[in-house]
Amino acid sequence: MKMERAILLQPASALPASRLQRFGNTMQRHNRLIVGIQWAVVAFYLVLVTVPAFLPLPGTGSSVLNNFTLLAQFMFWGIWWPFVIISMLAFGRVWCGVFCPEGTLTELASRYGLGRAVPRWLKWGGWPFVAFVVTTVYGQLVSVYEYPKAVLLVLGGSTVVAIAVGLIYGKGKRVWCRHLCPANGVFALLARLAPVHFRVDRDKWDVAASTHPTPVNCAPLIDMRRMKGGAQCHMCGRCSGHRDAVALIARAPGSEVADLKPAEANAWEARLLVFGVIGTAVGAFQWSSSPWFVEIKTQVATWLIERDSFALLQDNAPWWLLTHYPEANDVFTWLDGLGVLAYIGTTALILGGWITLWLRLGGTLLPGSAKQNGRWLAYALIPMGGLGVFLGLSALTVSLLKAEGIVMPWLPEARGVLLALAALWSIGLAWKMLRDIELWRKALALGALVVAIGGNIFAWALLFYIF
Ligand code: SF4
Repeated sequence: MKMERAILLQPASALPASRLQRFGNTMQRHNRLIVGIQWAVVAFYLVLVTVPAFLPLPGTGSSVLNNFTLLAQFMFWGIWWPFVIISMLAFGRVWCGVFCPEGTLTELASRYGLGRAVPRWLKWGGWPFVAFVVTTVYGQLVSVYEYPKAVLLVLGGSTVVAIAVGLIYGKGKRVWCRHLCPANGVFALLARLAPVHFRVDRDKWDVAASTHPTPVNCAPLIDMRRMKGGAQCHMCGRCSGHRDAVALIARAPGSEVADLKPAEANAWEARLLVFGVIGTAVGAFQWSSSPWFVEIKTQVATWLIERDSFALLQDNAPWWLLTHYPEANDVFTWLDGLGVLAYIGTTALILGGWITLWLRLGGTLLPGSAKQNGRWLAYALIPMGGLGVFLGLSALTVSLLKAEGIVMPWLPEARGVLLALAALWSIGLAWKMLRDIELWRKALALGALVVAIGGNIFAWALLFYIF
């Protein structure tokens, strides 16, 4: 039987490799070059994270061109992060496998560490959600986008924990990346849309089992033989060509989501997308521009003053808990901190709740469990979530460029076009997901999804056009 399969497979393996496949194989053969790139990024990252924290804050008249702190801020938040998000949509998780400094450092630490097995608690599916929400909210409390000490604390702290996890768990693995990295869940969602991935041909893999015994070190601990899709794959290329079964191939953008079955939808992934990447991120990008935030905070402060209660109006919190830079006239009171928490939390609950409600209603129209169908439909919102985070991060790019005197009069239109494209992409994905459903159910479920998307667009419209 095995022999027959091998003979049947022969003509396929004799087909010339595609350009992409050859590129994947080149990645595999030139792993040393990738390691070189990784260490160059580590050096660059360490300079950007550490040096500005020991420099004085930029004075008036400072510019990206003459102040290293502003340059680092622009590199990190203006360019690096927005384009890491876009890279996920374009190339999958190449960022993780080829460029990410934390991945490189945690893997190196794991090579020389204790090599313990990954405990059960660390595999809990809720970590990507918790890590994303906590990091996003904490970043707002300490103003991570503005101050280098906060950058050192949040990003540097995360790197130190990544190394510590590497020193304890796995042997040459990226346990941190797979289970705890705050960006892991978001990247896993976005990479599902990418037009390229490493595909594993299970039949070829099994046939070749006895002739290719050398194992590949898949650092993010993927069961390569059963790998479907690109959500967890770091696209490092190490397994390209392995057993003649793994190949970098092109696919229709979003096809991994379009082909997802309702039973495969994961509750934590859906929560991360709806309440985290959409709800929490919108709240985090919105609060500092929101007149509601100022209004409510003023009313609460007035109420407290009338009752001679001044504890929450003190601004004595340390900089690592709440923003505290008197030299820049930027100091949070305890009330500010609570206000930020309340604003982000309320936004996440209202927006996430609105989307969940409509997805659940859409789910009731489909065969099977309404709850599970709602989770499944949530995956159609990945383009909305991804482009929303890109727009939010690029708002920082815009304000940094504005400070440099660069004006972009076309910006409102460009944002509107991007939001419209994201919405259309999400609706198109849902249309494909629902392809086997009878027309009237499909139309109503899509209607529910459109209302859910409307809530998300309204939230971005508040930030970009109304506030
Ligand atoms: S499956 Fe593992 S080894 Fe293969 S490309 Fe993805 S991360 Fe690298």
